[in-house]
Amino acid sequence: MDSKYINNTVKFVTDALNKNTCVQKVLDTKFVKEHPNLAAGAAIGAGLLAASSIYKLSTSNTGKRYNYDAIPNLSFEEEIYDVATIGAGPSGSVLGYYLAREGRSVALLEKKKFPRDKFCGDAVATMAQDILRDMGVMKEIVDENLGHFAQNGGFVSPNGNSFIGNSAKELKRDAKYNRGAVIAIKRIVLDEKVAKAAKRMGAHLYENTTVENCTFDRQTGYWTIECVESESENGQQPKKLTYKARVLVCADGSPSSTARKLGYVNTEPNGICSRAYVKNNTTFRYDGVVFYPKSLLPGYCAIIREARDELNYLAYIIPGGKVKLDDLNHYHHEYMKSDPFISKALGPNPDIERMKAAPLRLGGIKKSYDDHLLIVGDAAGFIDPLTGEGIQYAMEGSKIAADALIEAFNERDLSGQSLKRYQDRWMNRFGHEFNMSMTMSLFLYRFPIVLDAAAKLINKRGSRFLAEWAAVMTGMKPKTWFLRPDVGPLIVLEAFGIAVERLFGRGQQQKSLDQN
Ligand SMILES: Cc1cc2nc3c(=O)[nH]c(=O)nc-3n(C[C@H](O)[C@H](O)[C@H](O)COP(=O)(O)OP(=O)(O)OC[C@H]3O[C@@H](n4cnc5c(N)ncnc54)[C@H](O)[C@@H]3O)c2cc1C
Repeated sequence: MDSKYINNTVKFVTDALNKNTCVQKVLDTKFVKEHPNLAAGAAIGAGLLAASSIYKLSTSNTGKRYNYDAIPNLSFEEEIYDVATIGAGPSGSVLGYYLAREGRSVALLEKKKFPRDKFCGDAVATMAQDILRDMGVMKEIVDENLGHFAQNGGFVSPNGNSFIGNSAKELKRDAKYNRGAVIAIKRIVLDEKVAKAAKRMGAHLYENTTVENCTFDRQTGYWTIECVESESENGQQPKKLTYKARVLVCADGSPSSTARKLGYVNTEPNGICSRAYVKNNTTFRYDGVVFYPKSLLPGYCAIIREARDELNYLAYIIPGGKVKLDDLNHYHHEYMKSDPFISKALGPNPDIERMKAAPLRLGGIKKSYDDHLLIVGDAAGFIDPLTGEGIQYAMEGSKIAADALIEAFNERDLSGQSLKRYQDRWMNRFGHEFNMSMTMSLFLYRFPIVLDAAAKLINKRGSRFLAEWAAVMTGMKPKTWFLRPDVGPLIVLEAFGIAVERLFGRGQQQKSLDQN
């Protein structure tokens, strides 16, 4: 620094002090005159203390690293949304709904145009049902007869032990809009209704809008989100569009493209699932059955009844077993033809659509937040590693995210430190369950006999027990249920009995669900 500048500053401060009568009184005291060095040291210390307090006070309003209020005044066209989500699937739209309900401005940026299909088993479990009810969507679905509540169902173990019962009756969820642990709703219907509910609540839904690039400006504290029209009209050049938001939410599904681009996710999806709708079936009499062919473990196949008597046939490849993701096409078709239960359920020459498939990201990611950023739904890996179910975790996780964001906005603190509460809460709500599911699916792969034993035990204990099994499998009850003294040890005992029977060649396989 220039010495002339320093000298001038010192002179200015000395003059100011000399002119100040209070300062003069202090300088004239006996103590200062007798101990000038001590007094100077004390004065410097007090000065530093005051400076640090002033600094702390000046930054305590924004709290953390970004100056929330630094966003300059902008013209109307340059509106800055509080939150922008990439994707308006169940996770993006539920987040939009709950934020808009609290008066926050939200942009839902969706590359497709509704109604759009999403390959899925369409099985919507209870946590999601509760949210749909709250949003008014469940009433629309039931009144328009667009969903099918599962009443009777069960599973077939690797060895062919099966049990079918009425779990819905046992679960006593029998009011008109509340009848069963699972309702099947085609995603082409569900996703549009959820997105439109968010729009009605005040979220801005931009369809046909593909997000290409997102950049965060640390000075101003907002994101610039560059998009392009997914499909342009009349073959014209697709329009480029730019949105701005204080918080970016990646809700773009299991490929997790944005979170990967931004460096928060660095793995490929770890599972995959096929889907094929079946029409005009007369051979399958149930609402939902899970089939565990040994070669697919810890994955499984399922047949789920949809509204208007269509069926949905699925094959899930879940990580931890021998089957590779590329094997899906083979297994999907192979079981249709040669698994004794599945082939019989689908009947000869089924009227079935061509196989469709989409990836799964299971088990939850390690970090789903940062400064002005959240990752939700499949993009954050919110799929149960035992069941492949993700809709309810996408919705519940986004409700948690909305609450966390509302609190953060109220506190004027959008730092990662503040948004960490989102990660803590979803971990408590279902993240630890995912860890348990992962362990269980590896266990089932190593010891398929456990599923044979469970089916046998359910046969002995009846529908009440099946209902509890269904509640655990659909996330209504924690997986620690298996550790209960009247569950785990009994399954182990059955497994022991089956092992002894097999040793003496007495194991017997059932080949039809109808033999229950
Ligand atoms: C075959 C299959 C069967 C399944 N069965 C079940 C089941 O029976 N029950 C269950 O609970 N779960 C099931 N799941 C999981 C379930 O589908 C997901 O958990 C759920 O869809 C997650 O919702 P989401 O909103 O996070 O993601 P998605 O539903 O994938 O939505 C993401 C949205 O983001 C949009 N998007 C992507 N990239 C961009 C971009 N760059 N710009 C703008 N928009 C973008 C997409 O168009 C999409 O609309 C299944 C999954 C598969 C693949």
